[in-house]
Amino acid sequence: MSLNIMLLGLPGVGKGTQAAKIVEMYNLPHISTGDMFRAAMANETDLGMQAKSYMDAGNLVPDEVTNGIVAERLAEEDTKPGFILDGFPRNLEQAKALEDMLSKEGRSLDAVLYFTADMQVLVDRMMARGRADDTPEVIQNRLDVNGKLTEPIAEFYDEKGLLNKIDGSRELDVVFADVKKLLDSLKND
Ligand code: AMP
Repeated sequence: MSLNIMLLGLPGVGKGTQAAKIVEMYNLPHISTGDMFRAAMANETDLGMQAKSYMDAGNLVPDEVTNGIVAERLAEEDTKPGFILDGFPRNLEQAKALEDMLSKEGRSLDAVLYFTADMQVLVDRMMARGRADDTPEVIQNRLDVNGKLTEPIAEFYDEKGLLNKIDGSRELDVVFADVKKLLDSLKND
């Protein structure tokens, strides 16, 4: 029995908060490629050096590098009961690479949780954070760029029957109640 799940959704949709709540309740490792790259940069490892120029420019780190760190992480023993993938895959090549990594070991994804909200809700939430890079224009661009990347990934998993849409515009706890219902039904399968 394992719980192999992936979180999808645009910035501001509350994905990070839900990830933290899932970690707390289900005790699964949270595998965030963004966090892994930031940690590597902070530690000034080779990986960090490689990732830095891409991250600084807001571009994707090349697939070979990204797929490599995910494969290494998924090879670790603590992921065997399950994992929460977050920020990966960012494109269809990565999605296909992930399938290969998992199927080689007889594993597969159990569900993709796709958090959605109206654009205006996302814009309002990001404006409320008041970060320096949260001007209306930059926010709109971030949502446009990410939206274009996220849609084909959502479709890819929808075709496989793995996509679960969750309305992320509601209160945190209401959203988490839906998440919990879904994960508990998977666990009891
Ligand atoms: P995030 O914290 O998920 O927004 O990621 C921050 C940055 O890390 C992104 O802008 C990319 O430069 C890099 N990154 C994170 N995940 C990936 C990924 N799956 N593929 C390529 N680059 C990524």
